[in-house]
Formats: sequence, C-alpha cells, structure tokens
Amino acid sequence: MISDIWAEFLNIVKEEIGSRVVDTWFKAVSLRKWDAEKQEVHLEAPNEFVRAWIQSNYTFFIRTHLGRLLNVSMPKVLFTNIQQESSKSVSEKTGAHELTVVPAVLSSSEPSSSKTGLVRKTKRHFSGHVNRRYSFETFVVGSSNSLAYAASHAVTKKPGMIYNPLFIYGGSGLGKTHLLHAIGNEIKKNDKQATILYQTADRFVNEFISAIRFDKVYKFQAKYKAIDVLLIDDIQFISNKDQTQEAFFHIFNSLYDERKQIVFSSDVIPNRIGGLAERLRSRLACGLVTDIHLPPLETKIAILKKKAGEMDEEIDDPVAHFIASIVDSNIRELEGALIRVMAFASLTNQDVSLELAQKVLTPIHKGHEQQIIEFDNILRSVRKHYPYDKKQLTSKSRNKDLSFVRQISMFLMKKLTDKSLREIGLFFGGRDHSTVMHAVNKIEKYIQNNTEFSTQLKRIENEIRR
Ligand code: ADP
Ligand code: MG
Repeated sequence: MISDIWAEFLNIVKEEIGSRVVDTWFKAVSLRKWDAEKQEVHLEAPNEFVRAWIQSNYTFFIRTHLGRLLNVSMPKVLFTNIQQESSKSVSEKTGAHELTVVPAVLSSSEPSSSKTGLVRKTKRHFSGHVNRRYSFETFVVGSSNSLAYAASHAVTKKPGMIYNPLFIYGGSGLGKTHLLHAIGNEIKKNDKQATILYQTADRFVNEFISAIRFDKVYKFQAKYKAIDVLLIDDIQFISNKDQTQEAFFHIFNSLYDERKQIVFSSDVIPNRIGGLAERLRSRLACGLVTDIHLPPLETKIAILKKKAGEMDEEIDDPVAHFIASIVDSNIRELEGALIRVMAFASLTNQDVSLELAQKVLTPIHKGHEQQIIEFDNILRSVRKHYPYDKKQLTSKSRNKDLSFVRQISMFLMKKLTDKSLREIGLFFGGRDHSTVMHAVNKIEKYIQNNTEFSTQLKRIENEIRR
C-alpha cells in the first residue's frame, strides 16, 4: 500500500509541476521507508546528483504533498544511503525490492513495546505496463462520462473512420487519460500490428525542441507520420509554442489525410485554449468534441467499489458512501482518499470501517460545502490591503514591494484553490512553477516568524472565503 502512496505522489508531481520533472527526477527515486512514529520519510536516490537536486529543489514540495497523503503535517525527509552498484542491479533485475514500513503506534499507553511487532515488509513492484490498468473494463460509466465513453469505444471499432479527430475535454482527474489509454489498449487488442503512440503534449513539445537542437526534425516528423493511432494527452500544453504547433500541424494533416485515428484530451474546449494558431484550432475541433463532467454520487460509489476490487479489497456501502460524499473535486482525489483509508487500515492492522474512514479523511477534506474560489476573488481581496492591482501583479515588474505582494497572492491561491503550481504560474504571466513554489515556501516561513503578518493574512483569507 505504501507503494500506492508513492505512485499517487508521482501523480501529484505530474499534475503540479509537469511530467518532465517526474521523468527526469522523481522516477529515479524510490520510497524506502515510512516511519510513522518518527514521522520520517526515507527516500533513496540512484546517485548523489539526483539526491542533491531533489533535496534542494523539492524538499518542501515532498513534505507538503507526501505529508498530505500520509495524513501527517510536514514529515521529515531523509535520504537513505545510496545502494552499492552491485546490489542495485540485482534489485533492478528482479524488478522488486524490500520496502520497510514502520507504522505509528496508535495506543498512547504503550508507546514502544508493541512497535517491533508491527514492523512489516511489503514488496514493491515496478511494472513497465502501468497503462494496461487503464482499460474500458476498468472504466465505470455514468451520466457524467457516457458520451465520451461511447465515442471512445466507437473509435476503436473503426479507427480513423468515424470520429476523427476525437477531442475529449473536462476537468482534471475525471478520466481523460484513462480513456485515451483504453482506446490504445483496445485497438491494439483488435489489431496487433497497429502502431499506437500515446504522448502528452508536454512531452511532444520537449521531444520537438530536442529534435531541433540535435538537428533531427526530419526524423521526428517521420516517426509521427508513420503512426496508425495517435493519442495526444493534455493538448492545451501546446499553447504558445508556435514552432511546435507548426510541426504538429503538418503531422496532423498527414495522419488525417491517411485516415489515421487521432485522439486529443484537454482541460477545455478547443476554443478556449489560449495561444493556439487558428488553423490548428479548427483542426482540433473538426471531428467530434465531447466532454466529461464531475460524476454524480452513485457513479462515485461504483468507482470506489471497483477500485477497491482491483486492490483485492472490499468496502461496504456506508464507507463507500462516506468517501464519495466527502470528495467532490474529482476521481483522482476520490481514488487518493480510498488509498489513504486502505493504507491506514493496513498499516495499523485494522479493518476498514466508517469510523476509520472518518478519522483518516476528515482533517484533509474540511467539509463538503467548500466553495469555489477564483483567482480574481483573491486578487480583489489582496487589492484592499495592498496598493497593487491585477495588471501590476501579473506584470513582469520585479519591484520589491510588488514582488512580495505577488508572492502573497500566489501563496493564497495555492492555499485556497486546488489549482496547480503550473496553473498559478501561468496566471501570473507565464511564470515557472518553481517561482510559485518558492513564493509559497517563503510566505509560509514568513508566517511562522511574524505573528502580525500572520494575523493580517488570516484576515485576508477570511475575507476571501466569505
Ligand atoms: P484526467 O486525465 O482527466 O486528469 P485520469 O484519466 O488520470 O484523469 O483519471 C484519474 C484517475 O481516476 C485514474 O486513476 C483513473 O483510472 C480514475 N478514473 C477516472 N474516471 C474513471 C472512471 N469512470 N472509472 C474508473 N476510474 C476512473
Ligand atoms: Mg490526464
């Protein structure tokens, strides 16, 4: 279960900072041990370089998000000794290694006596085919996604012939990536020869940039033009990348003319993707455009039961109902909540019960009626306390006072909305996620050392919530 938490954490990194960071840094790192009693996370890095980079750039991020998943606030992050080369290659070959879990001792009356008895070892498996998990069979259909599901399914029957391109849009964590993989898996099942490529727009951009750098644009184009089914996830990330768009436009036309199936996902409809060349926009929308919404309660319950089943666990109705009613953001969060409940039960040797679920989830999800807070609301309240408006705050100016207020705004956005670092950075005129993370970090420290400031910020926060 602890490895599920690490996988879940990698998902968050991907959402918050982008898949490139996961590929470059986090995939190489593994979670060796979680000591709940000392609240220590032990990570292992393949080499000193990766360790140093992660430690100096992502410690705060790890503490915040892994902490949230482990249901503790800001655990310590330690790096265990780097394994010897020889023993490392062994664990790579077997594809699994030992992972130690030291659970917290729950009964406060006997703090240490039962500790050793609770130490357990779990195997962690690395699999190259995680995407197999995303199939039509594991996708729960309900009113919120039935159109997208039906269209995806239809596409696999006659690739390139009916809905081309297929464009699926919807909020984060609602099943777009799942459907894209399901399409790929299903077509592959029907036609073993088909060349299917799943790619996020993010990676497509990077691949293109590196093709330019190494003078391999022709090879790059040729690779894409030879594909039978192209699945591009999160196409919105191609926005403002003019050269990449140009290259993609030609690839698109070539595939489309040969009646090769193309499927896109995005968080918004083509019309609302900013910084997109008009001719590309019209191509994206020229097939079938379909959306996915937030699932209703009964779909959420069905999803929870299915996910529990996939983990060889069962959850009863009251528990499923409770989790489903408390998580109303998206399915990824829903799954995350389930994993936290299961992990907690397993780490503490208890059965999953309603009481346990309540205990694990309530501190994180503060209530169902959490209202949606928009970036603009936040800036409006900030404006009442500081002499800067939206235009100034989102400008490039680095005036010291202005920058500080900008950092306050970023901090509030991260705290009060569920937007990613990347989205907040984009809002502030295309700043990098690391800038936002730095801001959040800095303000957090500032709050700790400065009560007056902390009170002021609380006041602004309350105003925004009102
Ligand atoms: P998106 O790409 O829209 O952000 P994902 O496809 O990554 O969302 O879905 C997030 C998680 O929720 C995945 O683990 C996925 O399997 C799960 N999920 C989403 N929709 C469904 C569904 N209808 N049935 C089962 N699992 C789902
Ligand atoms: Mg996705």
